Amino acid sequence: MIRASHGFPRGFLWGTATAAHQVEGDNFNNDWWAWEQQPGRIRQGHKSGKACDWWGGRWQEDFDHAAQGGQNAHRMSIEWSRIEPSPAVWDDAAIDAYRQILRGARERGLLPMVTLHHFSSPLWIAEQGGWLNPEIVTLFERYVRKAVAALQDLVEIWVTINEPNVYTASGYVTGEFPPGEKDVRKALRVARAMVLGHAAAYRAIHSLQPQAKVGLAHHYRGFQPANPRSPWDRWAARTRSDFVNALVPRAVHSGRFQSIFGSERLPQAAGTQDFFGLNYYTVERIAFDVRHAGEMFGRGFYPAGADLSPTGFIANEPEGLWQALTWAEAYGLPIYITENGVEDDADQLRPRYLVEHLRQVWRAVNFNWPVRGYFHWSLVDNFEWERGWTQRFGLWELDVSTQARRKRRSADLFEAICKANALSSEIVATYAPEVLGRLFPGGPGE
Ligand code: BGC
Repeated sequence: MIRASHGFPRGFLWGTATAAHQVEGDNFNNDWWAWEQQPGRIRQGHKSGKACDWWGGRWQEDFDHAAQGGQNAHRMSIEWSRIEPSPAVWDDAAIDAYRQILRGARERGLLPMVTLHHFSSPLWIAEQGGWLNPEIVTLFERYVRKAVAALQDLVEIWVTINEPNVYTASGYVTGEFPPGEKDVRKALRVARAMVLGHAAAYRAIHSLQPQAKVGLAHHYRGFQPANPRSPWDRWAARTRSDFVNALVPRAVHSGRFQSIFGSERLPQAAGTQDFFGLNYYTVERIAFDVRHAGEMFGRGFYPAGADLSPTGFIANEPEGLWQALTWAEAYGLPIYITENGVEDDADQLRPRYLVEHLRQVWRAVNFNWPVRGYFHWSLVDNFEWERGWTQRFGLWELDVSTQARRKRRSADLFEAICKANALSSEIVATYAPEVLGRLFPGGPGE
């Protein structure tokens, strides 16, 4: 076998990503908790409950696993509803608990990257109209100021908002997230509010902590026309991609908020990113379909023969990450892969998915593109939103009823990569031999 190693730059951040509502447990004061109580909202009636019991202290065990696994960073989020349980009422005990968690991360050599809004909002915010409330930008900025002032000695890298596109599409187009609306125009109003909320947060953070690095986590999804020769499919794929992928990044880059419904200048949003956070999972095919008028006439699906995850949620499309990186690189900012992963309880697909995607990251690094880190989703199985506990994204498995953790083979694989700061042919031969020839061509049988 040919021996080769794809090295990553010195100081590259290797970590996993988590989000407060998905791991903490007992987050009963936010809109997601309320949503989970409504029949039919979450698959199999699942509830977040204790989640991974981080609020009870089990983050320690999980951070131990991450640190022993060679990781040097962790992306996590803090929960607005804990810090500000009711309007302008601040919970110092919650802030202290976050200080302990962040100190715990640092003591273990995990550099924290902290997201300020990851899908969940305080109940009182939701009751006032959530991100459709004309006051939301002011309210979000007030919370951000408080949180950053309290935590800035422990955090240098901030993500203001996780995936504005997934939040708006799921909450206001497909209706799978609270508040369960199906109204593209409302989705656009929410996206616009998130752009302005991000911009206000960006300035607020820099006024408190000039050296901070502030960005967003953008979800990039590949969309290919189902039939590349059909102008209708091409139009539907392009329209979907513009709405999902381009709308928010363009607005926070150039200050132009532009959609099929019109264009508006938001000059205060221009140039408000210090880095480009990229979440990437998969690529879909899009067919033009008049029955999907509410989704801009696009029907998404995976083609026959796709390398699918067990519940069919994700197709393994590593080349899509390369396309995502090519697209992100054009923004001229340092890039962090802030999420990438696959749901795979039995850990059959994950090893292959992981090495094939990291190979694409390495391609970018090899061109000297400024990719600074990779955060795998996720450290341990956690509450997967409207899909409840039916999907398992963890490097570590969680038994939800006992809170016991069990290491998946992918955790060993990721450890080998993090510790070597490289993806080597030996590692691939050990953990994902089925793709060795593709990743390291030239060996026997090639
Ligand atoms: C979200 C995560 C989620 C993951 C897997 C991302 O869109 O940021 O919270 O768990 O996808 O579904």
